[in-house]
Amino acid sequence: LNLFILRIVKKHTKLKIYPATTLKQLTPHKDLIFGRTFTDHMLTIEWSSDSGWADPVIKEYGTLSIEPSASVFHYSFECFEGLKAYKDKSGRTRLFRPDMNMKRFNNSAKRIALPTFDGNELIECLKSLLRLDSHWIPNERGYSLYIRPTLISTQNTLGVGPVSQALLFIICSPVGPYYKTGFNAVRLYATTENVRAWPGGTGDAKIGGNYAPCVRPQVLAAEKGYQQNLWLFGEKHEITEVGTMNCFMFWKNEDGETELVTPPLDGSILPGVVRDSVLSLTKSWNEFKVSERKFCMSDIVKASEQGRLLEMFGTGTACIVSPIKEIYYKGQDINIPLDANDPSSNAGPLAKRLADELMGIQYGEIPHEWSVIV
Ligand code: PMP
Repeated sequence: LNLFILRIVKKHTKLKIYPATTLKQLTPHKDLIFGRTFTDHMLTIEWSSDSGWADPVIKEYGTLSIEPSASVFHYSFECFEGLKAYKDKSGRTRLFRPDMNMKRFNNSAKRIALPTFDGNELIECLKSLLRLDSHWIPNERGYSLYIRPTLISTQNTLGVGPVSQALLFIICSPVGPYYKTGFNAVRLYATTENVRAWPGGTGDAKIGGNYAPCVRPQVLAAEKGYQQNLWLFGEKHEITEVGTMNCFMFWKNEDGETELVTPPLDGSILPGVVRDSVLSLTKSWNEFKVSERKFCMSDIVKASEQGRLLEMFGTGTACIVSPIKEIYYKGQDINIPLDANDPSSNAGPLAKRLADELMGIQYGEIPHEWSVIV
């Protein structure tokens, strides 16, 4: 019997907690800038190929001590996640589909030869961290705690090869609403000079190496007055993603059907948690056709000319839904409709409805299995 009990003892029960001796002062909600403030604690778990995962540790948020030879600094052995914790009206902390983030985290780790782990165990460790830092989660609608799980190689070598030492850590940052005054529809620069991802590449993994190369194109787009890049692929200029969001088009297709389209998960697109949730919700409404299929710039240009475009938006954890109002392509700005019935609106009816429903679930106002109580 003892042996049996030993076998079912879970790793998170071995979690060691060293509470911070002094707690930081909370930043006033209105002063929060995305990703600048961090809570009192962090979770760290070391891994080595000899002994596997060590016991998880929660300790005061602070610096890591890593040698400059660690291969994370040279060859981008780094993958990460982004999810949020929300406070509901009764003061309970909730996560939104954390199992999806764990699955993606493991897929990313595998893609760059870093160790994988038990996602459920990590969620339990994360819950302990959130309970300790619970007072950091703002209890206002729109506010949340952004959670950043990260996995890096700490192996000290300049040799390029499989990793035998790694470190997983989770840090948390309180964040305000993405749009402080309602929605703010974005102007996109359809980028033909650079490509974000390609077949057989790493576009479907959330690895640091995918992000730094996109910053210069973003700066160039910003200089021209566009907030985000619309990432294209191939000679036909297929739509892939919007900045760091998945992309949706709502239109009357060539057959006259009302259809919501998003590019398929063909390996070059990040499988967004919000993307999956939007597909699932809209399919459950059963009000229009919902498709995962390729579409290209020529479809947008033609639909715009023929008045068949209804709405376009990006989706992601940070903003939930980000309406698109304009796309620069080949020397011209294509106008994307927002709300035909309300010219002063900064979002279309579908974008608004999705944002409302998803937030309702995230903040526990609409009961749903996607919302996990901590
Ligand atoms: N695409 C990219 C490239 C991203 O970085 C993100 C943000 N994680 C997304 C899409 C949206 O994913 P999610 O809905 O899981 O936030």
